[in-house]
Amino acid sequence: MTPDDFAAAIRTIPDYPKPGILFRDITTLLGDPRAFRAAVDELVQPWAGAKIDKVAGIEARGFILGGAVAHQLSAGFVPIRKKGKLPHQTVRMAYVLEYGQDEMEMHVDAVAPGERVLLVDDLVATGGTAVGAVKLLRAMGARVEAACFIVDLPDLGGADKIRAMDVPVRTLVAFS
Ligand code: AMP
Repeated sequence: MTPDDFAAAIRTIPDYPKPGILFRDITTLLGDPRAFRAAVDELVQPWAGAKIDKVAGIEARGFILGGAVAHQLSAGFVPIRKKGKLPHQTVRMAYVLEYGQDEMEMHVDAVAPGERVLLVDDLVATGGTAVGAVKLLRAMGARVEAACFIVDLPDLGGADKIRAMDVPVRTLVAFS
């Protein structure tokens, strides 16, 4: 599928969750069997045959994509969650949001030092969330091989911030 095909499969909701935001709703893509399969296939394509130990998905839409990506790569899956949701001992990382900051968590034993990890989320905007996730994974000794997203909002510069951390970024469609 082309970037235009992916764009057509994604619904845009104006003024959600607040005025002025164009929310790129990937649930329409997830509900389209051909688009969902194509998106997962395209995201994993550079790593087919490569040794990826774990796929880390960012709550919540990153879980849906990350689970499918992990299955395709025969890798394990690691959930990165908002604080207070994981039952075992966690490591925590503050991250910057458009307005303010929050904290994300991962289980302490979710990745082993030296493991090769692919980071997955649905969309990169300012990059604050993904940068926090890369820091969290690296703090546990993981090698973050790449970050993959269906949607890039290039005007917000997030993908460039992740690349500046020496993490390659793969996205399937950009909305400017
Ligand atoms: P950021 O940390 O600014 O890169 O924001 C990325 C996170 O916020 C992702 O988990 C997205 O799901 C969500 N997000 C940010 N902006 C949008 C948007 N315009 N449409 C849909 N999701 C968004």
